[in-house]
Amino acid sequence: MLASALSSYRGRFAPSPSGPLHAGSAVAAVASYADARASGGKWLLRIEDLDTPRNAPGAVETILNQLRALGMVWDEDIVFQSRRMSAYQSAFNTLLSLNLIYPCGCTRREIADSAVQGPLRRLDGERPYPGTCRLGLPTGRQPLSWRVRVPQGSYRFEDRWQGWMEQDVAHAVGDFVVKRADGVWAYQLAAVVDDAAQQITDIVRGEDLLTSTARQNMLREIFGYPQPTVLHVPLVVDQEGQKLSKQNGAKALDLSRPLEVLQQAWVDLGFERVVATNIETFWSAACSVWAQGPSRANLHGTPQRPYDPR
Ligand code: GLU
Repeated sequence: MLASALSSYRGRFAPSPSGPLHAGSAVAAVASYADARASGGKWLLRIEDLDTPRNAPGAVETILNQLRALGMVWDEDIVFQSRRMSAYQSAFNTLLSLNLIYPCGCTRREIADSAVQGPLRRLDGERPYPGTCRLGLPTGRQPLSWRVRVPQGSYRFEDRWQGWMEQDVAHAVGDFVVKRADGVWAYQLAAVVDDAAQQITDIVRGEDLLTSTARQNMLREIFGYPQPTVLHVPLVVDQEGQKLSKQNGAKALDLSRPLEVLQQAWVDLGFERVVATNIETFWSAACSVWAQGPSRANLHGTPQRPYDPR
């Protein structure tokens, strides 16, 4: 491996323990591990277990065993979001003291029915929040969730795989939730607070989170946190073109053949299989390829954009 003691790179993998890792989550794990190790950096693990109703019993242990079986060794102690409530509360207090959040009494249904139609409709099917409670809770309403006030204007960032991206968060998303109606800290807030606490310099994750990046960059700007680089890898889809997910029954990785699991994730990323006889030789070959960036020679011809090697 191309380790360098001087690298300041700090990457992370942040699975939600709603079930075991599957072929889709393996792709994000493999890409983030290859990027960290090819840069001689650290690779940290964060368990995003805030959404307690979705946590599956035993999933954390299963995920850790899966990563170990694939030869993916994390640096430093694992961060569990469920143990970081005071950090989220203090970030929330900061937003409150800046008058940047407000309580919202709208239900999901009401937001869906408020029907912002046409081009503002988001790909994920969610509607932008129309701002109903921005100027104060309408009379008779109980506060349910808490939302952050999104300033007008676009957020631009360069994704190392996807290129330049731009999102007008106020139009596309609207004021978004930082504390949910069920009292759970929202992913956007927790991820930003934890990336800063773990001093993450480089985020590598699945393309489904590309639309979260502008929101997260916006929160980082408010808190004065540094902006990590981002790289969003293509998603693995099923025969119907749907993203593989635990919710739609994606199968757990077959750990009786760890080398094959790694090779498959590598191919799903768009690379040619590497020559390897075991997981150690896989990782050293894969990290060398990753460090060069994909080229025609090692991509198997899918029309994806190549990422920028660091
Ligand atoms: N917990 C998220 C997931 O499992 C990943 C969050 C992130 O990488 O920022 O999809």
